[in-house]
Amino acid sequence: MRRLGQGSGMEESTYAQAPDPEVTGPEAAARRGDEAEPEVRTSLDGEVGTVTVSGDLTEAARRPLVRAMTDWLLASHSLREVRLDLHGVAFMDSAGMAVLVQLQRLGAPRGVEVILVHPPAAVVRPLQLSGLWRRFPIVERGEDLPAVLVPQVVGDLLAAAEAAPGFMPSEEGRALYEAARSVSVQGPLLEVGSWMGKSALYLAAAARETGRHVVTVDHHRGSEEHQPGWEHHDASLVDPLVGRIDTLPRFRRTIAAAGAEDVVIAVIARSEVLAPLWSTPLALVFLDGSHTEESARRDQDAWVAKLALGGTLAIHDVFPDPADGGQAPFGVYTRVLASGEFEELPGTGSLRLLRRVR
Ligand code: SAH
Ligand code: MG
Repeated sequence: MRRLGQGSGMEESTYAQAPDPEVTGPEAAARRGDEAEPEVRTSLDGEVGTVTVSGDLTEAARRPLVRAMTDWLLASHSLREVRLDLHGVAFMDSAGMAVLVQLQRLGAPRGVEVILVHPPAAVVRPLQLSGLWRRFPIVERGEDLPAVLVPQVVGDLLAAAEAAPGFMPSEEGRALYEAARSVSVQGPLLEVGSWMGKSALYLAAAARETGRHVVTVDHHRGSEEHQPGWEHHDASLVDPLVGRIDTLPRFRRTIAAAGAEDVVIAVIARSEVLAPLWSTPLALVFLDGSHTEESARRDQDAWVAKLALGGTLAIHDVFPDPADGGQAPFGVYTRVLASGEFEELPGTGSLRLLRRVR
């Protein structure tokens, strides 16, 4: 994806070597780096700021939009919500999307929500394709406060899974779905590690086809790598009242927007606390919780024994080479295989699939 405003030396040489006379419009302007600033109008009414953007949402929109947001953050202590009225946007590129994310990041520490108002297809499609769509609450024009998320109900659960935020590459998600729909034994599918519901939706697609349920367990406080100071920390996920990460609202939004609430059952608990309470034989167990050595072993001990004969164990983030990632899930995979109770099915990426044969 092109990143405008970076590596300008390369942009220039690209232009010098290969200007394409056939390309006109915003794309061509982006290549030349001379995009027009969109028209930006602002109004502040108590807790709600409204920014109306007309024209192209590209790198050129960054300066006026960031200025409007920072002015309000500095001037108004009661600001709760910034509504970006995008109905007049004709074109948005990746730099324009980055501007939307930047505005959201600016507001997050103060609890200021950025809401997209009446986004046209030119905004919706790129956001959906990039998986950013569900990051933003959406309202249609003329709706009253409080802002209500317009559920983007997607009949196709696989498409919803692809668009959902999370940690599951598309090929691996598809492989998980295929594994889940082809299990031949009775029973629900159980996932450890729900996060924001991405892999749960791949499983839900299979569950819906085969008349099962997905049970997904997570305490929703994040794994080690999601905590402050770690690689995958996102400050906007911290519940300010509790002072800890809370992914449950985002999870619920993902599942509701996909129209999958009837097949997905969320359990808010530590997986090792739920396991002793669970006795129904499982058709599939998907292990994708904490990847510390201790937690991975605990999840293995807690859940693998609950798989029905003929059921499938799916393990995520299995990296035989330590250079590619942590070794805890690989350890689970190795031990389970060594037990002689499982045979291996073809895996995909870091997803390993094992079938219980005794
Ligand atoms: N399957 C998800 C990613 C899961 S990330 C996806 O497709 O995107 C790992 C999740 O495991 C985090 O949400 C974290 O809160 C959860 N987790 C970590 N330790 C856990 C435990 N002991 N019990 C339950 N959930 C746990
Ligand atoms: Mg994972």
